[in-house]
Amino acid sequence: MNRTDARPPLAAADQHLVDGVLAKNRRSLAKSITLIESTRHDHQQRAHQVIEALLAHTGNSIRIGISGVPGVGKSTFIETFGLYLIEQGLKVAVLAVDPSSSVSGGSILGDKTRMELLSQRPEAFIRPSPSAGSLGGVADRTRETLLLCEAAGFDVVIVETVGVGQSETSVAAMTDIFMLLQLPNAGDDLQAIKKGIVELADLIVINKADLDPQAAALAQAQLKSALSMLRHTTPGWEPPVLILSALKSDGVAAFWAEVTRYRETMSASGEFIAKRRGQALAWMWELIDRGLSARFRGNPQVKAKMPALVEAVALGHTMPTLAAQRLLGLFEGK
Ligand code: GDP
Repeated sequence: MNRTDARPPLAAADQHLVDGVLAKNRRSLAKSITLIESTRHDHQQRAHQVIEALLAHTGNSIRIGISGVPGVGKSTFIETFGLYLIEQGLKVAVLAVDPSSSVSGGSILGDKTRMELLSQRPEAFIRPSPSAGSLGGVADRTRETLLLCEAAGFDVVIVETVGVGQSETSVAAMTDIFMLLQLPNAGDDLQAIKKGIVELADLIVINKADLDPQAAALAQAQLKSALSMLRHTTPGWEPPVLILSALKSDGVAAFWAEVTRYRETMSASGEFIAKRRGQALAWMWELIDRGLSARFRGNPQVKAKMPALVEAVALGHTMPTLAAQRLLGLFEGK
């Protein structure tokens, strides 16, 4: 039995969504994303069936991750870059992973006034970060939305995140090329290097070069020399450092040229597809790990013994190794 035979037929409403997404209907796309983001179990089940039915039509975009601290110019850059892509005849979707929206109830990235020009274009689709759940949950929803956008025919999918916390790792794990936006000052570079974000970057862009071109050139030289000492995560690619002004729309064509060069270089070596396959498998294992952990913590036997063992370990009366073995044993019904 092949995969298609194994899949139960979709309900009429869901088949309608699938057809709508494939017909590039924005309402169908938005409705499917709403299903993905719903916390209701039956909605999520339906959403997964819709995505599964669309899977053969995914994978055709270039997925670009963009990170940088608040104020560095992410939305200005995405607006300028998005409009540039539209001029080239391409369609662009912009998604976000913003863990702050679930922690504080407020969002760093969700401001409706951002990307005002781009949001009015029919060739663009902008969706703020899902706000429910942990970083893992937010990232899952964004990954799934990314697949829907691909099925709906978007040529470029941008996934934006903020340079605070762990969200960069999640975004780098769902995109083909991860770009870090930096300000033209050395202190900023050091922060990013310390936090290990620079290692994730396939491309570094120093923005606001119009403010102080000399400082931008200095930051570029420093980052280049710092990069030469770091081990980069994408083999076969030396991350370039570009200078740009998002506000003046200066350097955007050069940025796109680098993204294209990356895609061509990595496709030629087989790395492009290998990276995507690795990401899909890593995502599956991450879901298994998270699922197991949730089941373990929710297991009644484990829950009953957990407080006493936690206290015994904290007081130094029991070895962490033994406590873990005991709890895992209870989980396995031993
Ligand atoms: P985000 O928080 O990273 O999305 O940053 P924004 O795109 O909202 O930009 C923050 C501020 O920096 C805004 O006032 C922008 O107009 C300004 N800005 C963004 N890019 C540039 C640039 O290239 N040059 C200058 N001079 N200002 C910029």
